[in-house]
Amino acid sequence: MRSRIILLILFCLCATQCESRKNIIFSNSYTKIYKNSVCKPDEKFPQIVMIPFFESATQLVEDCKTYPKHKTALAMMIFYHKWQEYFGDSDYSVKNTLNKTMIKWGKNVRVLDANGFDLEGAPLTHALIAGLTESKTVVWVWQGKHGKISETSLMHELVHISLGASVGNFDPDHEGGKYYGWSPAHSVMIEEAKDMLRAFNI
Ligand SMILES: [Zn+2]
Repeated sequence: MRSRIILLILFCLCATQCESRKNIIFSNSYTKIYKNSVCKPDEKFPQIVMIPFFESATQLVEDCKTYPKHKTALAMMIFYHKWQEYFGDSDYSVKNTLNKTMIKWGKNVRVLDANGFDLEGAPLTHALIAGLTESKTVVWVWQGKHGKISETSLMHELVHISLGASVGNFDPDHEGGKYYGWSPAHSVMIEEAKDMLRAFNI
């Protein structure tokens, strides 16, 4: 009887452990490819650095002072945590997109050379911008002056590519009515994600 109970406990332990391994969100191994992919100050710039735990996600940096890869990885994990809380991701389309995203960190703001929209959907031309979604998996983000990812537009740009992945529309006019996808909940989610980044001091 006693051995049966022990066996049962062992089975339960294994079952919980196996279950939790199934529930991992991103790759949970810090593989060699991530360890070896580092910013090299003496080599040519820009350089591409792998973002650990996100399959083939990368960041493009203009120098080695830009956010280290582990901070970018944590920021992306927090983004996905918040996205799932608000919008779910049952087909993993957002997760799969994050796993192949490239974040191009910029040292200076840019002038918008095409037409864009502000957060309320009002048209913008030749405005100074701090972030841009360039394609399905490429975002450009001004690294900012504060040295904190929370104060950049990274969370905002990740919403654009996640909308592209989940509803098939990047919704460039945000809360405006010309394109669909972006709702007030997306703007709230961004603020909560940024607060979470601040809690981790990143
Ligand atoms: Zn935008």
